[in-house]
Amino acid sequence: MAERLALDGGRPVRATMLPYGRQTIDQQDVDAVAAVLRGDWLTTGPHVVEFERRVAEAVGAPHAVAVSSGTAALHAALEAVGVGPGDEVIVPALTFVATANAAVFLGATPVLADVEPDTLLLDPAAVARLVTPRTKAVVPVDFAGQACDYEALRDAVGPGVAIVGDACHALGARRGGRPVGTLADLTCFSFHPVKHVTTGEGGAVTTADDALQRRVRRFRNHGIATDHRQRTLAGTWEYDMEALGFNLRLTDLQAALGTSQLRRLPQWLERRRAIAKRYDRAFAASEAFRPLANRTGDGHAHHLYVVQVDPARLRGGREAAYRALRAENIGVNVHYKPVHLHSFYQRAFGMKPGLAPVAERAGERVLSLPMFHGMTDADAEDVVGAVEKVEAALA
Ligand SMILES: *Cc1c(COP(=O)(O)O)cnc(C)c1O
Repeated sequence: MAERLALDGGRPVRATMLPYGRQTIDQQDVDAVAAVLRGDWLTTGPHVVEFERRVAEAVGAPHAVAVSSGTAALHAALEAVGVGPGDEVIVPALTFVATANAAVFLGATPVLADVEPDTLLLDPAAVARLVTPRTKAVVPVDFAGQACDYEALRDAVGPGVAIVGDACHALGARRGGRPVGTLADLTCFSFHPVKHVTTGEGGAVTTADDALQRRVRRFRNHGIATDHRQRTLAGTWEYDMEALGFNLRLTDLQAALGTSQLRRLPQWLERRRAIAKRYDRAFAASEAFRPLANRTGDGHAHHLYVVQVDPARLRGGREAAYRALRAENIGVNVHYKPVHLHSFYQRAFGMKPGLAPVAERAGERVLSLPMFHGMTDADAEDVVGAVEKVEAALA
């Protein structure tokens, strides 16, 4: 007899909800932010400069530009490579909407490419079929924390198309020994609280190209090439707005938090890998809950731990698993509903179901299990126990 599910009145595996992701804040983080509050620069100050240096160092990139969110990073990076009205930008169909939205902000047309079924990473063959003379950029997403095959993607698009990595899942990831942040022309990171390192809200763009980093900086600051602090230091008020830009700046409060958080990135990645290994072991033989393939070994940054629920092996499929695990106080989530199934994209771009069959099938099956560096071994055992309980009850 299978144990009675919490959904059916049984006892939940846990007494309190385990979220799918959350930040870790220690006293040093608190002190770092408090110190900025007492200083002279709350924004555009020395802590932003320091944080940029640390981000660049963490990913081995020559330049990092801090911005107000991962979405702002995507917006600024696409602007920097000249994306504008009439251009096409290829993005995966299975991603957070911000990836596609960034192209729309600039008046370009997002073109959705399908993903590979076992990794859910952008499929280079699908990308190759969608390249046209209007293709300006491709935005691969390092889904769940696994770096895409950037070499294959570069071959797929050819030399005239910019590669802007959406690495919002992949701070600290590597592929072929090279860190994410150096694999694309520009790489975008997010510091939202569920990501590896947080600044509350925040983001960064990394690049090896000096002209591109200057253009990102200008776009971050209303299209003005110098910032307030630079003018203060140079003893001048004079400035010129060279292009249209936005206020996409990160504050010094946020930057100080980010610098403090980055100290622990290596140990946090280690912890995420250990949790992923525990899950891999638990679900290797599961018929109903199938983990994504890992092609990058310890290069995987494990932002998410995604399983695909096979509806032929679990009564009610993903929706039943979602409801049952939530009732067990396991905070599962779904990443993602495919971009073209959102009403905006159907209305504004005439996108329809059928456009990306692999992404659509995955969109009905994916389930993210709790994965964050602050999880204890007991938390991970609760997740494993709850998944096994649900599989036994709904087989
Ligand atoms: C988090 C995320 C974003 C957006 O980042 P924000 O900092 O929330 O703006 C974009 N793309 C992907 C894949 C993300 O996971």
